[in-house]
Amino acid sequence: MGQLNVFFFPMPLHGHMIPTLDMAKLFASHGVKATIVTTPLNAPFFSKAIERTKDLGFQMSIRIIKFPVVIGLPEGCENTDQLTSPDMFPIFFKATLMLREQVEQVLEESRPDCLIADMFFPWATESAAKFDIPRLVFHGTSFFALCASEQLRLHKPFKNLSNDLEPFVVPNLPHEIKLSRSQLPPHERGGIETDFSRMLIRIKESDRRSYGVIVNSFYELEPDYADHYRNVLNMKAWHVGPVSLCNRGVEEKAERGKKPAIDEFECLKWLDLKNPHSVIYVCFGSVCNFPSSQLYELAMGLEASGQQFIWVVRKGENEDEKEKWMPEGFEERIEGKGLIIRGWAPQVLILDHKAVGGFVTHCGWNSTLEGISAGVPMVTWPTFAEQFYNEKLVTEILRIGVAVGSQEWVALGTDGVKRDAIEMAVKHIMVGEEAEGRRNRAKALKEMARKAIEGGGSSYSDLSALIKELSSYHS
Ligand code: UDP
Repeated sequence: MGQLNVFFFPMPLHGHMIPTLDMAKLFASHGVKATIVTTPLNAPFFSKAIERTKDLGFQMSIRIIKFPVVIGLPEGCENTDQLTSPDMFPIFFKATLMLREQVEQVLEESRPDCLIADMFFPWATESAAKFDIPRLVFHGTSFFALCASEQLRLHKPFKNLSNDLEPFVVPNLPHEIKLSRSQLPPHERGGIETDFSRMLIRIKESDRRSYGVIVNSFYELEPDYADHYRNVLNMKAWHVGPVSLCNRGVEEKAERGKKPAIDEFECLKWLDLKNPHSVIYVCFGSVCNFPSSQLYELAMGLEASGQQFIWVVRKGENEDEKEKWMPEGFEERIEGKGLIIRGWAPQVLILDHKAVGGFVTHCGWNSTLEGISAGVPMVTWPTFAEQFYNEKLVTEILRIGVAVGSQEWVALGTDGVKRDAIEMAVKHIMVGEEAEGRRNRAKALKEMARKAIEGGGSSYSDLSALIKELSSYHS
């Protein structure tokens, strides 16, 4: 058997492209030839990072397929980043269905040993099967979230509750975890069927029909749930994370996804002047788009907490409103104490700095795992996707987080969290005896995360085992 040849096919969403690229780098570091299948306007995002790996002797490349022109999407739109309203998401997801034929052509021509395709492409299992290629699914979330959502789908414990805020226990999990219906994604509440809910059913079915699931997590982080997923839910899975730890140099850590809106060295210089654990980093991922009223409350809460902070406010977000969200005199008052990054932040670089002692996060899985890998306790502020599940893992199972108290699943960002709640949660995470306990637990997890991806570690070994298994698939 020659060199293993693996194709990666990520959904054009930053929260999926970033970890897929990291995963491809990890495979390449194990001697695998890694190819990323993507569309022309998404290719530059991968090419620079791939260029950097040349010095390491990695064999990585890109295979381009065309994105279809679709009515209802902005011209030249190939990434969810360019969607200007939530209504465009279903159109975008539908458009990706049209990629199928080209992907099959690519598979027929190149005959890779494996296709690792995003969960959002349930059809990829059949496409790969046509050429007897094993397909692995990448969800981009935790074992915990995979288990919780599957148990809810199977048992629907929320069906007969009188109201959306009434708590219920997620059945059959190793811990007693309570959620309310208001915190579940609408398609998991068992209501009216939509195109999206039907697609999610197809995703679940394709999980079972595919060769297995690849998870960006490490065993020591959630052993009960890694076991539950495999042994109770009977899923074949490999854990290979935290994949972000494959980025070691300043440039690699700084430019994940997009070019940062701040020079990375300027950012580091700002942090270098601060005491250890004295700055809280505030960022809500690549998709959230809070209304001005929520940003205003956040500004007031942060200021009232008296803590130093770096706050990432997505550029363009409120450009039309000329930053109406900003309280009067806010920037002058926080000078030297708070740094606002308008646009994309070098997140991993910031989290890894010793001055950072807390992270206000929306609990997107990449951000959560990056916070864990940096040993930073978190204020959890979930808003949509599977973020409410990740919050439970962080606050109740790992006990390294404080919930800000968001109760309602809202696509692209909440609007109900008040300044007092923000002030209290930020203070709790940064100072006091309990904060120390959380910080110590987070630090222990950081060490475990780093060990997991080194030679002999749990993720390293699982990836090696997967590569070995794929190598003998056709023999
Ligand atoms: N990210 C970043 N800079 C930003 C915002 C996000 O580097 O200003 C990265 C972050 O490090 C993470 C990803 O974008 O890897 C966001 O993924 P996550 O799952 O946390 O949230 P999503 O964007 O999918 O909601």
